[in-house]
Amino acid sequence: MTSGFDRYALGRVGRVVLGALVAFAIGAGVHARSAQAPAAPQAPATPPPAAPTPARQGQTLAPAAQSGQRADQGPVRDASGAIIGFTKMPEIPGTPWRIHDASRPHPRVVTPGATPGAPPTDAIVLFDGKDLSKWARSQNGQLLDAPWPVHDGYFETGAGSGSIITREKFGDVQLHVEFATPSPGRGASQDRGNSGVLFMGRYEVQVLDSYENITYADGQAAAIYGEYPPLVNVARKPGEWQSYDIVFEAPKFNGTTVVAPAYITVFWNGVLVQHRRPVMGSTSATATPHQYSAHDPELPLTLQDHAHPVRYRNVWIRRLAGYDQPEQK
Ligand code: MG
Repeated sequence: MTSGFDRYALGRVGRVVLGALVAFAIGAGVHARSAQAPAAPQAPATPPPAAPTPARQGQTLAPAAQSGQRADQGPVRDASGAIIGFTKMPEIPGTPWRIHDASRPHPRVVTPGATPGAPPTDAIVLFDGKDLSKWARSQNGQLLDAPWPVHDGYFETGAGSGSIITREKFGDVQLHVEFATPSPGRGASQDRGNSGVLFMGRYEVQVLDSYENITYADGQAAAIYGEYPPLVNVARKPGEWQSYDIVFEAPKFNGTTVVAPAYITVFWNGVLVQHRRPVMGSTSATATPHQYSAHDPELPLTLQDHAHPVRYRNVWIRRLAGYDQPEQK
């Protein structure tokens, strides 16, 4: 048995539901008949259209804006009449730009290498197959010529002659390097084809013969040494050429405080194996957790001598800058 209040409340609910259904039916009919008709009241049961772009965390989804090229969007045309941007589209949140902003700087033109893996035009070639003039050995604060042997198209770790560093200093970079571990492979675990790429002389992406060679996971090839094993083991056999394509973001300091850690992304033989990992600190500490100590924003890149004759070729690096760099006139 229902009370008077319940009957009243049910009656209200029924009227609201009926009203919503009528409004929905009218709305659907209007949409079906003509786009020119006056806008129908929003039907509460109609879900909003899907957002056109992935939602940011915490973002409230709103119906997609109407697209189109209307005069009040401020179209800008080139000499042929083609629309090449707009001046009055909505602002892109968190940026100084509007959607399709005609004044947004165009990315500078870079010509890619003629073949996959070849350096693009804006790369600094650190080894072109001929000499180690871009490299040095640091001794007592002086830069001496790199003592590693150069052969036809590649150079080799001068086992026992010490690590080498670039004469130039770098911060945020993209690095391409090809390497081959000694063949036939000799030794086991860390004592087999060991070398390394150390960004800023501190943060090592391991080079090792990891083809059917078990060692601790965070010390195998493509590991961020002592911190992160690679996602997968993509090792080629000893003597076969392999590649690393690495994005390194330098750590940022404010005095002695770490404002942002270094981040490392690695593609090993074309396969993603480190996905923007936050580096915990200098990887040279082997028996204690890694820590940062503040350093310059740019420092040389190091190739490690670990007493194994690992070969290198086709080494190039690109300085990375942020989005929307001013156009060079
Ligand atoms: Mg190493």
